[in-house]
Amino acid sequence: MKGRDVMGDELLWKVSEGDSVNLKKYDPAYVASSVKREEADQQLAALGQELGELQELLAAAQHHSILMVLQGMDTSGKDGTISHVFSQVNPQGCTVNSFKVPTPEEAAHDFLWRVHKVAPAKGMLGIFNRSHYEDVLVVRVHNLTSEDVWSRRYKDINHFERLLTENNTIVLKFFLHISQDEQTARLRARTEEKDKAWKISVSDFAERKYWDDYQKAYADALSKCSTKEAPWYIVPANHKWYRNLAIAQTLVETMRSYKDEWKQELEARGREELAALQQLRDRKEVTDL
Ligand code: AMP
Ligand code: MG
Repeated sequence: MKGRDVMGDELLWKVSEGDSVNLKKYDPAYVASSVKREEADQQLAALGQELGELQELLAAAQHHSILMVLQGMDTSGKDGTISHVFSQVNPQGCTVNSFKVPTPEEAAHDFLWRVHKVAPAKGMLGIFNRSHYEDVLVVRVHNLTSEDVWSRRYKDINHFERLLTENNTIVLKFFLHISQDEQTARLRARTEEKDKAWKISVSDFAERKYWDDYQKAYADALSKCSTKEAPWYIVPANHKWYRNLAIAQTLVETMRSYKDEWKQELEARGREELAALQQLRDRKEVTDL
């Protein structure tokens, strides 16, 4: 199982293009040795603040968009991640889309139609709670289309994501990796604790018996659709605090690498605007400023 020795300083696992993923080799309860539980909340708060600042630059520069895809088994913490990692981001610069069972209108189109429509515009940070990957996950596990149809979709997905990245969308995909025991514990808590009962979805309980099929479908999706431009990350997600920290850190690091570019973009725009203003002054169309 991949552990400290393999991870180095990395908090999570990036799937390289062409890797053949075996999820059994990744420990869902992993915690990097550099991370201390008692410091994690403070670190997450600091990352949250930096994320807010970077998002402001992203929005002002209007040059890139960011698409963050969250996938994972039921109870893996997709909703929790969104509420904890993005608490300090300006809602104006963010879109969150959840993908459910397709509506009749969605089902009457190709599987990417509903997804492409809500891909983040320039300057926006888009979060997908589930995504186009459901069409090679639940659809495959439950034979909702023939293998002939779903097996072509990996290629379609790669083409689609390439279209996005070629148009300046920074794509990050996170698989929240929990163990079956952890899922059982989380589902049990929902049945035993009154204040968690509202989270019960009967389908989650029914889906449990397909665990192995889902793991296989996930492994295939991660293997076939992790590219240099749109990588998959496997997030050890048994510990909620660690999951939040690992995702926040990865997102912030990625955005940091564009910071100078975004600043230059803004400075160039500032210069253009000042030059345009000077022309108005020269033509005496503005005289008091
Ligand atoms: P939740 O995320 O708990 O609100 O549940 C949404 C449900 O919609 C999950 O059971 C997904 O598997 C299901 N779903 C999402 N996309 C699709 C799809 N393309 N086809 C069938 N079911 C889907
Ligand atoms: Mg659910």
